[in-house]
Amino acid sequence: MLLKPFTFYLPITLSEALTLYASLEEVRILAGGTFLLNSLKLLKRKGTKTPQNILSLRKIDELKGVYLEKDQLVIKAMTIINDLFASPSLVDNFRVLKTVCRNISTNPIRNMATVGGNLTCRYTWTEMGAVMIALGAYMHFIGKDRKEAIIPAEEFFNTGAKTDKIFTHVAIKRDKTASIAYRRVRKNSDVDVPLLAVCVKTNFKEDHFTNTRVTVNNGVTFARRDFILEEFLNNSSCQNGVAKEALDHLDTSIYDTRSDDYKKHMFRLSLKNAIIELVEKQKNV
Ligand SMILES: Cc1cc2nc3c(=O)[nH]c(=O)nc-3n(C[C@H](O)[C@H](O)[C@H](O)COP(=O)(O)OP(=O)(O)OC[C@H]3O[C@@H](n4cnc5c(N)ncnc54)[C@H](O)[C@@H]3O)c2cc1C
Repeated sequence: MLLKPFTFYLPITLSEALTLYASLEEVRILAGGTFLLNSLKLLKRKGTKTPQNILSLRKIDELKGVYLEKDQLVIKAMTIINDLFASPSLVDNFRVLKTVCRNISTNPIRNMATVGGNLTCRYTWTEMGAVMIALGAYMHFIGKDRKEAIIPAEEFFNTGAKTDKIFTHVAIKRDKTASIAYRRVRKNSDVDVPLLAVCVKTNFKEDHFTNTRVTVNNGVTFARRDFILEEFLNNSSCQNGVAKEALDHLDTSIYDTRSDDYKKHMFRLSLKNAIIELVEKQKNV
């Protein structure tokens, strides 16, 4: 299906992109295009108005790349998922991103979709959000007025994941002592999108869970933390029964939201297995 006509802008610097973004009306930002182009087709099919101007960030090299800088990892917004996966900078607590990237859909999608698109597309089920919250990431944006805004990923997703700025990069503090487990369940075998995902990050101190973050992608609301489970784990030690006991300390409002019995079961199994993984890893240290 042909899209409705629009004017396509392909700036090569962020400064040029910001000038265009500030001056154009009815403009949409284009990253990898894997969602946006499809949504333009859907809008056309429904007979709804589509934007007159598309501003592609694809040629802006300063928005691409992954690197370690002092004690943090910087991931630029236009980094494609497969490039993040292949990055040698994914060490220590950043290693979990390899697992997340590997699980995202299929190779053709991973070769086009960007980290920025994944975080800002406002689909509740995309996977980077929960992990960025678990890692305590900060998201950096630049507005039409060229002012930078730095927002914790947690706040971004708690407040509707909406932006009228250009997302430029995400920064995550390096943590050499963090232990992290990620579990994801696919929705069906035809199109690989997640049904749910959970991420548990902790720092074991003398075999006690500390600074634990449990983040959940329930596919219905934006990624969020389970504070009840976090509190339980932070008062627990690393022993065999903890994973089973943890299931009595869940914020059920997160897992029960529009979940059928299968999904509720898979949430419990995923959390249990994630905690078992952390306990076993710690015991082998
Ligand atoms: C078939 C299929 C399967 C998928 N499976 C998974 C999966 O299993 N797990 C998963 O996590 N994701 C999955 N995705 C989502 C995918 O990983 C991408 O995140 C998503 O398609 C959007 O990325 P994009 O770069 O193509 O963004 P685009 O489609 O180009 O843009 C998406 C939206 O984000 C906005 N945007 C993009 N970049 C910026 C920026 N820098 N600043 C401000 N706004 C911006 C755009 O304006 C647009 O509204 C799947 C997608 C498809 C099509």
